[in-house]
Amino acid sequence: MPDFVGAVDQGTTSTRFMIFDHGGNEIGRHQLEHEQILPRAGWVEHNPVEIWERTRAVIETALARAGLTASDLAALGITNQRETTVVWNRRTGRPYHNAIVWQDTRTDRIASALDRDGRGDVIRRRAGLPPATYFSGGKIQWILENVDGVRQAAEAGDAIFGNTDTWLLWHLTGGIDGGVHVTDPTNASRTMLMDLETLDWDDELLSFFGIPRSMLPSIKPSSHPGLYGTTRPGGPLGGEVPLSGDLGDQQAATVGQVCFEVGEAKNTYGTGNFLLLNTGTELVRSQNGLLTTVCYRFGEDAPVYALEGSIAVTGSAVQWLRDQLGIISGAAQSEALARQVEDNGGVYFVPAFSGLFAPYWRSDARGAVVGLSRFNNNAHLARATLEAICYQSRDVVEAMREDSGVTLDVLRVDGGVTANDLCMQIQADVLGVPVSRPVVAETTALGAAYAAGLAVGFWKSTDELKQNWNEGRRWEPTWSEEQRAEGYAGWKKAVQRTLDWVD
Ligand code: ADP
Repeated sequence: MPDFVGAVDQGTTSTRFMIFDHGGNEIGRHQLEHEQILPRAGWVEHNPVEIWERTRAVIETALARAGLTASDLAALGITNQRETTVVWNRRTGRPYHNAIVWQDTRTDRIASALDRDGRGDVIRRRAGLPPATYFSGGKIQWILENVDGVRQAAEAGDAIFGNTDTWLLWHLTGGIDGGVHVTDPTNASRTMLMDLETLDWDDELLSFFGIPRSMLPSIKPSSHPGLYGTTRPGGPLGGEVPLSGDLGDQQAATVGQVCFEVGEAKNTYGTGNFLLLNTGTELVRSQNGLLTTVCYRFGEDAPVYALEGSIAVTGSAVQWLRDQLGIISGAAQSEALARQVEDNGGVYFVPAFSGLFAPYWRSDARGAVVGLSRFNNNAHLARATLEAICYQSRDVVEAMREDSGVTLDVLRVDGGVTANDLCMQIQADVLGVPVSRPVVAETTALGAAYAAGLAVGFWKSTDELKQNWNEGRRWEPTWSEEQRAEGYAGWKKAVQRTLDWVD
């Protein structure tokens, strides 16, 4: 058995390739950004061809730098930004349109129409999701309705859909020369098209969006001993490697954080925040604005489910301070700026740029800064931005407690924003619960590697994976109960203002 496992992490802002050893330690990596295409207010696109080119490049460079070849890899896993929708022609390999990204709100009308005649409740019950612009179903419908020739091609079986996992698996296994058209249940559970109990596409749900079944990939286990396929010798790996792991990025991070027991949760702080709580083989239906989603399915075992709180804007609010306001020159500087003040000086910032996701699900909400006085400055705004990341997470933790009865005794965290020490301290303060970050903070890629490695026997069991998890850093709460309650009450009032604005 070769000594390493590789993982492609196709994220919202960049694509990375990482190589891990048996202990889950990083051996090599390379990462490249891709363009964020913003054609109009509320629209966000990526070029799928650029994403495939970046994927090739990061694989080639990381392997070359580590001095490794395909024969050193026991398996390859993929993890991806979820929901982002690609429709392409299986004969030519050409996409019909740019990828429509998960944050894109162009399908607002499609999503809100679903609730007018009861279809929304069928989606909630069967797919575990509230109708929203976020998920793939409406995005596929938009492409079918707005791009010439796609519907006919779809009906003829030539136009096919995939999230970016499917797009990359198709390319890695040969593309127009016999590439496989597959996905896993975690990605499929983000489309509004899959029945959570049968783990299959559902004809009634497909009919709501007018999507022909022939467009859809087949759904295979997230960790697939039968393999999705093997990489082509002519591809970026330069040899044949078993492709055996596929997980949506947030589920991959849950696996990378070894949250295999019921009641274990992790929160990932990237462009947005995603808190997932493992609910085991039980499907818990949220009464409080959370999503029910597949957490993973390993081989022929029963699927494991999760409750998820998705927050659209967290790290991207920090990018907004940098790119739109220009008050910091890099994301890390948000910490130094926020440290110039003791507290938020009465300022709350609700960054509802793409509406509000969990637990509110209001696509129409827009951002607000409230509580300003003449005394406030850039530092207060930076502090309010970091607090907004933490308060949005608290909203989700509260909803989870109500839905599941689970009270967290520690929150496992990962993602780009966790480099911000002040933000993590505020998180512990706002929740009143310790926050813990593992040594290997690249849990998303690690989770995809775990899924791939388990399938080929590189790792024998989830118990073996648990041995690999080690705490790197811990933040303990320091606020009094009174401070915590007062701060949170201010946040709730601020959120109400963003909703009042559009009511
Ligand atoms: P993704 O996988 O969604 O692309 P990452 O996990 O790579 O995200 O995190 C990137 C995000 O983290 C960016 O939105 C960036 O603004 C934010 N970020 C990175 N470093 C810091 C920092 N030190 N403080 C605050 N935010 C940060």
